[in-house]
Amino acid sequence: MSDIRAGRLSDAQLAENFAALQPPMDAAQAAVEAARCLFCFDAPCTEACPTGIDIPGFIRKIATGNLRGAAVTILRENIMGGTCANVCPVEELCEQVCVRNAAEDKPVEIGRLQHFATDHLFRSGAQPFTRAGDSGRHVAVAGAGPAGLACAHALALLGHRVTVFEARAKAGGLNEYGIAAYKMLDERAAREVEFILGVGGIEIETGVSLGRDVSLDALREVYDAVFLGLGHNAVNALGLEGEDLAGVHNAVDFIERIRQEDPATLPIGRRVVVIGGGNTAIDVAVQTKKLGAEYVTLVYRRGAEDMGATEHEQEVAQTSGVLIKHWAQPVRILAAGEEAGGVEFEYTRYDEGGRLAGTGETFELPADQVFKAVGQHFAPSPFQESEAPEMDGSRIRVDEERRTSLEGVWAGGDCVPGNDLTVVAVQDGKLAARSIDRYLRR
Ligand SMILES: Cc1cc2nc3c(=O)[nH]c(=O)nc-3n(C[C@H](O)[C@H](O)[C@H](O)COP(=O)(O)OP(=O)(O)OC[C@H]3O[C@@H](n4cnc5c(N)ncnc54)[C@H](O)[C@@H]3O)c2cc1C
Ligand code: SF4
Repeated sequence: MSDIRAGRLSDAQLAENFAALQPPMDAAQAAVEAARCLFCFDAPCTEACPTGIDIPGFIRKIATGNLRGAAVTILRENIMGGTCANVCPVEELCEQVCVRNAAEDKPVEIGRLQHFATDHLFRSGAQPFTRAGDSGRHVAVAGAGPAGLACAHALALLGHRVTVFEARAKAGGLNEYGIAAYKMLDERAAREVEFILGVGGIEIETGVSLGRDVSLDALREVYDAVFLGLGHNAVNALGLEGEDLAGVHNAVDFIERIRQEDPATLPIGRRVVVIGGGNTAIDVAVQTKKLGAEYVTLVYRRGAEDMGATEHEQEVAQTSGVLIKHWAQPVRILAAGEEAGGVEFEYTRYDEGGRLAGTGETFELPADQVFKAVGQHFAPSPFQESEAPEMDGSRIRVDEERRTSLEGVWAGGDCVPGNDLTVVAVQDGKLAARSIDRYLRR
């Protein structure tokens, strides 16, 4: 009999578990940290930032007390600089290459300084950007995630009108529905959407799905240009016996429930098994532990160095009490009546040809809940009734300006090849907007 129930922890304990991993800096801490920056010429941190934020520039402004200026320096390059301050894997990007990242020193805390500056601006309620005069052009954006919103904001600033079609009830994409609750606190995602819309010229139609309610052909007909920021719209299946048993969940769906519902009402197993090795696997493992699961085991088929999750994320999981088990692949989900009761795994290794292979030796892990986190992909279903852009595997093929193979259609974010990160999606949206602007003014 499986042991799944809501309310394993008190409200106070849940609030403590879902607080930010690191508290925000106060003004004195920010000043001390900003003073550690060497304001490098050709700063490697800026080079490493996918959106090219002038990092020494904004840190210098913090050091001189110009917090609004610091925030504008960030947001000019990355309109989601507030989110990215909290969700970027800085330990693999800007902070990794910081010249202070040496044995006897530590990198400047760029992410926390970025949070300090952007939070100051958001709390002030100021809107620092002004639109150019109306260009008379109107662009359609499909998908209100980081890619679509960044594209819409950059186009609006350039004077174009933008209508965003979003399938879901709320804008924000995975910032609203996917990022771990302890990274995106409060109503931060909604506040950022409001800030972006505050520039004017952008209208969002929620509950409108490309392919279902409106076709790409129709958008191309009516609008001067189209941007596709559709993200991943399908989750990978395990294809194993027992996958449909009660208690087996898609990690992405469950993470969405953690973001959208009261955590105290979410049913949580005493023993949880997570299958996968990326950030989604880590996020669901960490959060089920924070919700009160007693034993959480994350099982990945290869070694630690092959995991999609960053080293920092793996550390967060381990310090949260998640057991990570490498070199094992699932064979089947074990049933306990109609429900999942565990998972049978087979140990793995690389064979002589360097391919991953099962060793034939198996073991079982008991589980009340099993979470599948073996990746998501883009399925081209939104184009069924329309001329479709060329694909590159399971993503939309784009060039360096994020143009698709279709005249007047651009794409960016998770639905095109590249790293699946918020900051990369924002950069895609920005680059596409600049290219669309050139196209509209040609
Ligand atoms: C669980 C999880 C945790 C993550 N954690 C991090 C993290 O910590 N740090 C980080 O940098 N990145 C993280 N990511 C990745 C990051 O969230 C994505 O790379 C980023 O959101 C991609 O932005 P996007 O705009 O391309 O797609 P999305 O954010 O997915 O937005 C796409 C939007 O398009 C809408 N849409 C889809 N189909 C249609 C349609 N047919 N018609 C209209 N609208 C449609 C969707 O509803 C959605 O709003 C995480 C991802 C997941 C799944
Ligand atoms: S690399 Fe480090 S020290 Fe140099 S500018 Fe960037 S944050 Fe400052």
